[in-house]
Amino acid sequence: MDLLLKNATYVDWHDLSFRQTHLLVKGINANPQLTMIEALRNVPADVETIECQGMLVMRSFAIGHHHVYSALSRGMDAPPKTPQNFHENLQYVWWRLDKALDRDLIRASALATAMACAKAGVTFVIDHHASPNAIAGSLEVIAEAFDQVGLGHLLCYEITDRDGLNKAAAGLQETSDYLAKHQGLVGLHASFSVGDKTMDRAAELMRQFKSGVHIHVAEDPIDQKFCLEHHQKSVVQRLSDFGLLESSKTILAHCLHLDEHEKKLVRESPAWVVENIESNLNNNVGFFDGEKLGENIFFGTDGLHSEILRSAQTAYFAGKHNDHLSMAGAWQRLRYVHKYLNQNNFTGDGDNNLVVLDYDAPSEINSDNFLAHFLFGFRERHVRHVISNGRLIVRDRQLQMIDEQEVLKFTRQQSLRLWERMGK
Ligand SMILES: [Zn+2]
Repeated sequence: MDLLLKNATYVDWHDLSFRQTHLLVKGINANPQLTMIEALRNVPADVETIECQGMLVMRSFAIGHHHVYSALSRGMDAPPKTPQNFHENLQYVWWRLDKALDRDLIRASALATAMACAKAGVTFVIDHHASPNAIAGSLEVIAEAFDQVGLGHLLCYEITDRDGLNKAAAGLQETSDYLAKHQGLVGLHASFSVGDKTMDRAAELMRQFKSGVHIHVAEDPIDQKFCLEHHQKSVVQRLSDFGLLESSKTILAHCLHLDEHEKKLVRESPAWVVENIESNLNNNVGFFDGEKLGENIFFGTDGLHSEILRSAQTAYFAGKHNDHLSMAGAWQRLRYVHKYLNQNNFTGDGDNNLVVLDYDAPSEINSDNFLAHFLFGFRERHVRHVISNGRLIVRDRQLQMIDEQEVLKFTRQQSLRLWERMGK
């Protein structure tokens, strides 16, 4: 059934213009459509109406780099040995966790992530997944969970040599199987854990499916150090030599430790960069600086949480130091993920994806001062209704497609099972 958002204040994300209107939302799966209706007499009879008096309606959010696999890590025991650096953090925490994942745990992680996203006004997720002991079919499990909650998605499996060439081959196979049926990307962990043979086969897959790669780039200096020692070149130069920067679908996550030549390569390529500010702060790996990376930048949460609005605000505050990120710049990075998805013809992020904010503004809000409200006022608690692909997936802060309490019971049980498996 079509939806009518009655008495809405619609904010256009392109020019921040405000418009008092009624919105007719059409299109589940095909022909996404959003129509402004000035007079209610022009509304078709059989629509579901949502009163939006006093609320702001705008395009919902999307996350440019997420990790479903980390969803059940919150509150788990500290690792047996305390990590002293970035690589040890991967070894003692994340690579222990992802090795313990099985199909039920992947499903629980994906459901928990999707529900958190929906409630935060996020309707599209670009995920980067790893489960080395449950590779085959893992992306299908995640896709099903996202579909169940009602989210759009662009998934990939993290191909890597870190667990041997057999696991790398299984990652390549999972990628190929998934891309044969769905939109997606060719995932690679990071340059330092992918040898030339595997990298070459990933590049082949990228060309075969006319896709792009999704890879962590220079998150920590170790990535550059390893590349120089083993390949006698910088990370971005290596990716460029494999042709991976040639696709406008390619996503380079982090890009913290790049030299001037690498920045130029990124800037002059059609590839996109994802800033994951809170994860960088948490891992103490450095500060993002987008100044010489070009315009193609959007935000991710790197699996830390699902509130991309919060990430945009943190990027603005942290970016004052060396990134010189303006208010408009922070808004652009929040919204450029739509540009990326649209220009590459990915489906699921059209105009019929909306968030209704019940924003209790303490002061006047209008087109001219909107960015200040976005950075200093908007919170997840303001998200009241969410429409994904023309369908109401959150109404009055309640998930509509799934029983949240039931699923949370399941994910909490699974979290205990995961932590036990990690301890073995
Ligand atoms: Zn990541």
